Amino acid sequence: MSATTPDSAAHEVASVGAIQLGCIADDFTGATDLASNLVRAGMRVVQTIGVPGGPLDAEVDAVVVALKTRTVPAAEAIAQSLRALKWLQECGARQFYFKYCSTFDSTAQGNIGPVTEALMDALNIDFTIATPAFPDNQRTVFKGHLFVGDMLLSDSGMQNHPLTPMRDASLVRVLQAQCRRKVGLIDYQVVARGETAIRERIAQLRREDVAIAIVDALSNDDLLRLAPALQGMPLVTAGSGVAIGLPKNFGIAPSLQACALPPARGLKAVVSGSCSLATGRQVQAFIQSGRPALAVDPLRIAAGVDVAAEVLAWAQPLLASGAVLVYSTADANTVKSVQGEIGITEAGVMVEHALAAIAHGLVALGVRQLIVAGGETSGACVQTLGITQMQIGAQIDPGVPWCHARTAVAPGAGLHLALKSGNFGADDFFTKAFTLL
Ligand code: ADP
Repeated sequence: MSATTPDSAAHEVASVGAIQLGCIADDFTGATDLASNLVRAGMRVVQTIGVPGGPLDAEVDAVVVALKTRTVPAAEAIAQSLRALKWLQECGARQFYFKYCSTFDSTAQGNIGPVTEALMDALNIDFTIATPAFPDNQRTVFKGHLFVGDMLLSDSGMQNHPLTPMRDASLVRVLQAQCRRKVGLIDYQVVARGETAIRERIAQLRREDVAIAIVDALSNDDLLRLAPALQGMPLVTAGSGVAIGLPKNFGIAPSLQACALPPARGLKAVVSGSCSLATGRQVQAFIQSGRPALAVDPLRIAAGVDVAAEVLAWAQPLLASGAVLVYSTADANTVKSVQGEIGITEAGVMVEHALAAIAHGLVALGVRQLIVAGGETSGACVQTLGITQMQIGAQIDPGVPWCHARTAVAPGAGLHLALKSGNFGADDFFTKAFTLL
């Protein structure tokens, strides 16, 4: 664990000791992904939902503030990010990490460039890096071009994204279009030569008035070679990949202690609102394991039936003998026909509200180990449960850790949560996760 010497100026917010690394993530599940990488590298991490109004619950090395700023207007993304920065500064953070998607999801206007520049202005700095490289998830950067698996970003399917279509794989060009400052490149040949070469390249770029450098990385080794050159850099901007090397800069090594959560007990349940293919397989695997599962029908919710009350009455007698699953997960055709009848947004919101009410009811019935499948569904459940901070524990599958949170619905020991975004997790995720806990 780190030998932290709390910064004397740092106690306005962090009543339990100064943090080392302050992170700002532009979406919820991306925040968890970053937090999980930091925990694996040895940091004790709390993720907050939005900028907290009060102090931290636990003594940690890093905090990830989860915002929802990826596609909001740039001015709003800047305002929220600066609020998060201020709070993290008050917590004593010595380095800041702006985390965005590993496919560099943004529009021609932002928000990666505008938020990066606003953070640079606020910190009064003239240089930072930008790299979405995450080799563990097949995101690599070569000569400033982002690859998703074997394909350029612009051929990867991301060119058709409904909100942030990525039609250019040249990150220097993409970021330059969003920035006032000059954008440059630290290429793979420099990265391969390690810290001194990277620091020399940074000095050279600064002399050329470059303020933000895209960094190539083809492997985790590249990210680990990059990390020492980031020591002392006030702001790092990246996907979650760069996080694997940062804890070492603070004298922190991987440890079991970093992912330790309070002991788990209480009843178990899974709530699934994700219709992604991986979740579909996970629902089928749970049903085939013989555990009780109940499907929620969106058309009955739309017809005004109190589906949550029905589900809770079904679940109550079953919970004592093990995990139950409640799901709206359905195949693409079924979802399309529901959306045709109710409307796309309306169906989404209606199902999210119903599943969040069910999650709330399950916790009120004594569930203390809860898996939620679906990014938006997780957001709705966390909000309904009034959760504002989550301590990050061990990874179940890549990108999905167990977390622990306090909520008035589970007074005392709190609640263990696993929030799984759609396509994450192996087929046996819903059963394996409880065994690991
Ligand atoms: P993922 O992480 O897989 O994208 P999300 O929870 O983010 O999952 O998104 C799934 C969306 O689909 C949510 O808005 C949810 O309410 C909605 N949804 C879930 N089940 C159904 C269904 N059977 N019909 C229509 N919409 C659904």
